[in-house]
Amino acid sequence: MNAARPRLPRRLGASLARWFDAGTMPPATDDRIDWARIVPFAGVHLACLATLRVGASATAVGAALVLYALRMFAITGFYHRYFSHRAFKTSRPSQFLFALLGASAVQRGPLWWAAHHREHHAHSDAPDDVHSPRQRGFLWSHMGWFLSRRHFAPDLARVRDLARYPELRWLDRYDVVVPVLLAVALYGLGALLERLAPGLGTSRWQLLVWGFFVSTVLCYHATYTINSLAHVFGRRRYATGDDSRNNALLALLTFGEGWHNNHHHYPNAARQGFYWWEIDLTYYGLRVLAALGLIWDLKPVPAAVRARHAGHPP
Ligand SMILES: [Zn+2]
Ligand SMILES: [Zn+2]
Repeated sequence: MNAARPRLPRRLGASLARWFDAGTMPPATDDRIDWARIVPFAGVHLACLATLRVGASATAVGAALVLYALRMFAITGFYHRYFSHRAFKTSRPSQFLFALLGASAVQRGPLWWAAHHREHHAHSDAPDDVHSPRQRGFLWSHMGWFLSRRHFAPDLARVRDLARYPELRWLDRYDVVVPVLLAVALYGLGALLERLAPGLGTSRWQLLVWGFFVSTVLCYHATYTINSLAHVFGRRRYATGDDSRNNALLALLTFGEGWHNNHHHYPNAARQGFYWWEIDLTYYGLRVLAALGLIWDLKPVPAAVRARHAGHPP
């Protein structure tokens, strides 16, 4: 009995580390759902119920919308188009800033995100695809895959170009830091507004619940639709060999990611709406960043590639 005692703190420590630190997890090879992952994920959803208690105000709902927009842009513009596909270039400080913004969306670190996404493009809708609705059904493609043990640790061999930056490895390992800081900052801002602008009728708890939790959950599920719905519903302009679709509604919700068949046809472009009528808010934002000199060499879609559609009109 005495021999077992000192093990408990160590076990607790290991369990906590497993929750928060990707670096200590051994690579897993089974698809079982990891309950240590589900608890915080479910917690973020359940926290949204607190809206019933804290109430709403224009300021709190506005904060939720602004944080949705900022973080959706960071996911599509930076985690997806920059880190996963290298669709443009930037400086090392900007690269880190973009990674921090992406991490604020609570979708793990840049190496984890990019490694799994590159895996998806390497095996799109084939048996080895990480999140194919054709292979594993809707629920798995929407959110089962990242709750499984197998996909907890990233395959760093896929992201050697990113893993050579220690600041990105650090952010990937401690991916919980930025979300916690964001939540604390929102709570603090709410406390400040309670004092300085009581006329707004908002509170510290409203800004935390709406600005962080509600906005995170909306951003989560909008992002996930690209792995689930955008491989099921929509038009296929290009014969890509997978099930990817172009879906205008999803493109609006995800700031351009819904032009997913275009994207699978030519993944390296900075734009996913290939024609002017295909609204791609992320691309417009990237053009602004390019005009400001923060990013450059945005990869275009070559005209010949864009025209290579099998009998479908554009
Ligand atoms: Zn896809
Ligand atoms: Zn992609």
